[in-house]
Amino acid sequence: MRADPIQRAIDEDLVRVLYAQDPIAFFSHWFSIAVLIAIYWPAIPSPRLFAACFGFYAVANFGSLALWICNRRCPQLVSPRDWIYLHALRGVLLYSAPGIAVWFAFQSAQTDLPLLHTVMLVTLAAGVFMSNGFDLLNFSTAIPFLLFPSIVLLFGSHTFDRTLLAIVIAFFFCAINVYAMSYRKLFRQVVQARVDQQYLAESLAAQKHVAEEASLAKTRFFAAASHDLRQPLHAIGLLAASLNDAAATPAQHAKTAEHIVYNVEALNQLFNQVLDLARLESGVTQVIRLHFRLSELFERVGSQYRPQAAAKGLALRIAPTTMVVHDDPVLLERVLSNLLSNAVRYTEDGAIWLGFRRAGRLDGGFVEVRDSGIGIPADEQEAIFEEFYQVANPQRDARQGHGLGLPTVKRLIDMLGGELQLRSAPGRGSVFRFPVQAGEVGGIVASLNEAVAGGPSAQGRRVLCIDDDPSILEGLSSLLGRWGCAVLGARDEVEALTALAGGFVPDAVLCDYQLANHRTGAQALTAVRGALANAGHDNVVTLLITGDMASAELAALALQGIPVLHKPVTPARLRRTLEMLWQQAELDKGRAASAVKLGQGGGAEEADGAGSAAATEVGASPGTIAAGLQSQVQGQPQK
Ligand code: ADP
Repeated sequence: MRADPIQRAIDEDLVRVLYAQDPIAFFSHWFSIAVLIAIYWPAIPSPRLFAACFGFYAVANFGSLALWICNRRCPQLVSPRDWIYLHALRGVLLYSAPGIAVWFAFQSAQTDLPLLHTVMLVTLAAGVFMSNGFDLLNFSTAIPFLLFPSIVLLFGSHTFDRTLLAIVIAFFFCAINVYAMSYRKLFRQVVQARVDQQYLAESLAAQKHVAEEASLAKTRFFAAASHDLRQPLHAIGLLAASLNDAAATPAQHAKTAEHIVYNVEALNQLFNQVLDLARLESGVTQVIRLHFRLSELFERVGSQYRPQAAAKGLALRIAPTTMVVHDDPVLLERVLSNLLSNAVRYTEDGAIWLGFRRAGRLDGGFVEVRDSGIGIPADEQEAIFEEFYQVANPQRDARQGHGLGLPTVKRLIDMLGGELQLRSAPGRGSVFRFPVQAGEVGGIVASLNEAVAGGPSAQGRRVLCIDDDPSILEGLSSLLGRWGCAVLGARDEVEALTALAGGFVPDAVLCDYQLANHRTGAQALTAVRGALANAGHDNVVTLLITGDMASAELAALALQGIPVLHKPVTPARLRRTLEMLWQQAELDKGRAASAVKLGQGGGAEEADGAGSAAATEVGASPGTIAAGLQSQVQGQPQK
């Protein structure tokens, strides 16, 4: 994977090394030209040819300098590899002239000229070894031009001295080749080590940057969270103190209590939003895709926000659609709730539009929430997805939200594998949109609205509560009692089992996760469910309440389809959850009963077929829908 960067780094270093020596080479070649002319000067053989050859040598030397200047001035003109090729070409032109010029020495009557010229060539070859030895191409194209003509002509002279000299030069040629090879290997290793080090330094710097960013984000998050949490707490403290004021009238006390409830609500809402985000981050929230009609989801969220929109004189328009999607309806409901709540909050005139747009023929499309509100300036459109960021709430007034809605929406859409898109202009409104996958009508198991419309009442239900904290047991008992439930409290698994053995058959079991004596709610629920199943009561609703965010056991519970509620749990949330679970249990009971009836009523073959089809549906139902409920339970829309 990193071979290319290394090769490029090697090429870049080679270019640097090859070209670095060229100005020195330029002067060395002038020196060589001067020396060679000086030794031939007394009797130049074939003067015209000699002048042409040395003229070419001089021009090639200027060309070499021009190439060096080009490389210095415009290094980006060609790639490093091309600079290497150009340098090799320059070597061929530059060294061929003095190499071939040795022929003049053999034409001369002076017997020492071949030796003198050859010594000059060997000196030049040593220079080539030093400056071009790092690169095979530059080295192997320059050296043969310098030495081969000399070796051939010396051998051709058939004298002992010259043959010996030819052998020595040939040996020299082989030796510098071998040295150049190890030179190149060393060079490659050095460059590789440098690249590795650079790569390591860069990745360390990148990791450090990410860690610093994360730490800054965390600091910002905690600063904003602690401010927003302190505000209502501070107010509650002051209001609670004023309750002790004996001089206050009952009407003033009632007003104070009302303010306390308001602040507790605000605190609770913020807690839930922060916990929701934390849950999304920790990965305990599951994505459960179902086939469902998008219009049902639109109707559900639309009906929640229509009254608020109407109160501000806004029209909430839902575009009719027949689209069936395959997505997580619960998570999508949270997304739409947040977007619609923002649309209502940040729009003063005009309308809010919720609809679906097809993208292509088969692949689903986009859900869009549009408004004609205040819009978002372009330079804020990234920051609004950061936690606690608000465009215009410098006093951090809790009534104007906390800046957690869009970060939650973004994470939810990320979890669903899509991308949240935003188009907005100040004064012209905003459009938020995200993709949904196409589903199949045949895959729809139940209507979305059927599952929540008018849940069964809590009146007359028997509830077993397991919690080791007496004050929570007390609070739960009184709350459930007010809803008309018969409540039995147990402080642990043993007390719960004793209650069951005593004949108490609950409609629901609520259990805290952390119990005394290192027992967990999961263990207690397993024991209670086992005991109930043995007594023939399989359909009892169980609900775990926990303050934990992520643990292996919670994940295992999720797999078993045991619904989990995260603290703090509001009464409304608890009631809605219980009602949904009871409704689901009744639905499952009804389906099982009709499956049994069908099985008994038809002929043997028909009964088998119908029975197994119904059994599959019933078998699949608790898993799918209970799991769906669980994710619903884990994260209700908070706004
Ligand atoms: P909150 O609405 O609680 O402040 P959000 O995270 O949902 O937090 O939104 C962050 C900010 O983005 C808001 O404070 C608001 O300034 C801006 N914003 C979000 N939705 C809209 C919208 N539909 N129109 C205009 N501004 C919006």
